[in-house]
Amino acid sequence: MTKILDGRALAAQLRARLATEVARLRASTGVVPGLRVLLIGEHPASLAYVRTKERAAREVGIDGRIERLPATIEEGALLARLAELNEDPSVHGVLVQLPLPAHIDPERILAAIDPRKDVDGFHPLNAGRLAQLLGPPPDDLLVPCTPRGCLLLLEEALGGLQALRGKRALVLGRSTIVGRPMAALLLAYDATVTIAHSRTRELAHECRRAEILIAAVGRAGLVRGDWLAPGSVVIDVGINRVALPDGTSRIVGDVAFEEAVGQVAAITPVPGGVGPMTVACLLDNTLRACRAQLARNGRIRS
Ligand code: NAD
Repeated sequence: MTKILDGRALAAQLRARLATEVARLRASTGVVPGLRVLLIGEHPASLAYVRTKERAAREVGIDGRIERLPATIEEGALLARLAELNEDPSVHGVLVQLPLPAHIDPERILAAIDPRKDVDGFHPLNAGRLAQLLGPPPDDLLVPCTPRGCLLLLEEALGGLQALRGKRALVLGRSTIVGRPMAALLLAYDATVTIAHSRTRELAHECRRAEILIAAVGRAGLVRGDWLAPGSVVIDVGINRVALPDGTSRIVGDVAFEEAVGQVAAITPVPGGVGPMTVACLLDNTLRACRAQLARNGRIRS
């Protein structure tokens, strides 16, 4: 029996808890957590993502707003806008949607966000703290949303994160957005972690050894059913659009889902697995950032 990990239901539970906590914070301090999502240019997929984030924020009572800036904006002007948002006390979380137009250096932009408002967790200071972590992340550490969502799905699958201790975990993909922070989190919970990537030899062999497998590659059905260890837990981060013979298309993950079912202990579907958790974890980070900023200003106890 394979357990299908329902990311939509788990994300809905998390959002319900956040809505209660946001309402309580508002009642006791008068403060509404503020999130600004900067979208530079007209990238259609990015527009859909930021709208989802804005809507989800509002549903839990967070003041989420998209700021649209032209694709031609100069880097200096974007940095100036970020400096304003860093200073604005009504804004607790700032996110710059990637990818950026080619003339803008993403590293410089991500490093210009106040690390305390860095709700994507991509600032080098937050990434460095995560890389050094041994044990659960402290409340004030802003961890990238997709890996945090994967961790919550693992917690659900394993009945607790202590079960990660000593487990052989394989992370497919080494991006700074998913693969690397995911590996750092698994390591923090005492898993024995391998990171595989496009230059890894004998990928199928690496997969077969894994008790926990996180696939974050972006190749439809790359991981076949017979690559998976019986009884393993599989989290599929991949989002791949594939064309169907009838001219339509659908979204699939990096793991051949139908082949995996019946073989593994638990697996996330695509869509409906990691995606909704990513958005819910962004809201969670916004509330964490807001609380930490209020605590620093003496408005609430940390
Ligand atoms: P990326 O392109 O930055 O990184 C892909 C990684 O896969 C690289 O490290 C590369 O070395 C590795 N790779 C490529 N081909 C490989 C192969 N044949 N074998 C082994 N490794 C290979 O992508 P990313 O931003 O990390 O995203 C990965 C996937 O996850 C994409 O499909 C993306 O759309 C999806 N994603 C989903 C969410 C979500 O919320 N569900 C969030 C972020 C990314």
